[in-house]
Amino acid sequence: MKYDVVAVGAGPVGSLAAKYSAMNGAETLLIEEHPVIGHPVSCAGLISVKALDECEIGLGKWINNGITGAFVCSPDGQEIPIEGGEVKAYAIDREMFDQELAKQAAKAGADLLIPAKATGLRKEENVLEVTSQGERLEISAKIIIGADGVKSNIAKWSDLGKVKKILPSIQILGPYDANDPSFVEIFTGSVAPGFFAWAIPIEEDTARIGLCASRPFQHLTSMLKYHKVVSKRYRGSDFDPIRGAIPLGPLERTISKGIMIVGDAAGQVKPTSGGGIYTGAVCAKIAGEVAAKAIKEGDTSVERLMEYENRWRSAIGRELKIGMKINEVLGRLSDSDINELIRRINDPKILSIISKYGDMDYPSAVVKKLILKKPSLLKSFGLIAKAMR
Ligand SMILES: Cc1cc2nc3c(=O)[nH]c(=O)nc-3n(C[C@H](O)[C@H](O)[C@H](O)COP(=O)(O)OP(=O)(O)OC[C@H]3O[C@@H](n4cnc5c(N)ncnc54)[C@H](O)[C@@H]3O)c2cc1C
Repeated sequence: MKYDVVAVGAGPVGSLAAKYSAMNGAETLLIEEHPVIGHPVSCAGLISVKALDECEIGLGKWINNGITGAFVCSPDGQEIPIEGGEVKAYAIDREMFDQELAKQAAKAGADLLIPAKATGLRKEENVLEVTSQGERLEISAKIIIGADGVKSNIAKWSDLGKVKKILPSIQILGPYDANDPSFVEIFTGSVAPGFFAWAIPIEEDTARIGLCASRPFQHLTSMLKYHKVVSKRYRGSDFDPIRGAIPLGPLERTISKGIMIVGDAAGQVKPTSGGGIYTGAVCAKIAGEVAAKAIKEGDTSVERLMEYENRWRSAIGRELKIGMKINEVLGRLSDSDINELIRRINDPKILSIISKYGDMDYPSAVVKKLILKKPSLLKSFGLIAKAMR
């Protein structure tokens, strides 16, 4: 088989990259190793209204719940509300969402091959070795887009290195009496050292409850049993957790000759929240478009593909860099530091700044605003201010 562009991985990023490649005139193939697109799911499925727009998908059966705000909970159990006032985000069904995006790639003209697992790459010729239903195939491509997720083989086989940090995660779906089913709940501190835990209500009495931490299973069982707030709201007894991982800190280089790496595979994920759908979608569309243009021009060299590298870095590179610093700094705070920080934030003026300027896709904006408008917070944010210089 021969294609102009092969996108490996039919997650949201691979599908969007394939859609943009096909839309821009390249003969495009999208392959996915699993027999059902979007399954298994390893995602809390919280995306902003802006992310939904960026994915060009709109409202549909993949929407579980509209989210208007968040409660941020300190280790000592203070809960502060960040009110959005209107629907700011959605809890989505990732399986249906991913399937719809793959359908749109096909509508745009991309071929789909499922299940088909890339098992090797012959770099010199840009030939992918693929296994599909027990059959071994060779697929030659002028450009391969590696959208194969956090454990990306395409990045590895292309010697593009590894993302800086991988956070193990765990999540369950369970009966949960949320404080308000239109608010997500964020739990900070040693409940999930170095990151945070969450409850995302998907309906009145059910939520996705999870966290990122080393030894995630131990942290999850302990949170469900003993956490001041979660243990009272979680109504389940046994659970069937799904595991996953979140890549933080992008690859130093996301292209080589005839290769582009995108999405989780490239570490294009917000280090403050672990959200990768918005950032991945922004980059996927650039990758698909640049791939098709490069093919039209008959030039798939590193120099030509630099357009992708430059454009995605100018779109989200700075946000990822600042996010990485915020993640590192917050990760160093003790439970008592966080209790104090949240106590200070729980001030109507500060909460209104957060509500007004908070943007889950560009969290650095609100941190900067807080530092500008509320210098008294600098004491608590001192470390962050330093990190942002
Ligand atoms: C617990 C958890 C919670 C999260 N919550 C959120 C959230 O609420 N909001 C948000 O925005 N983000 C969230 N994320 C991150 C989000 O899930 C990812 O950023 C997003 O899925 C990235 O999309 P992707 O297409 O790059 O990768 P993926 O969605 O991982 O897709 C990669 C695809 O490639 C396929 N693949 C891999 N190897 C091969 C191969 N060799 N051959 C063929 N196919 C292959 C895989 O099967 C998979 O379908 C969360 C992640 C985790 C782990």
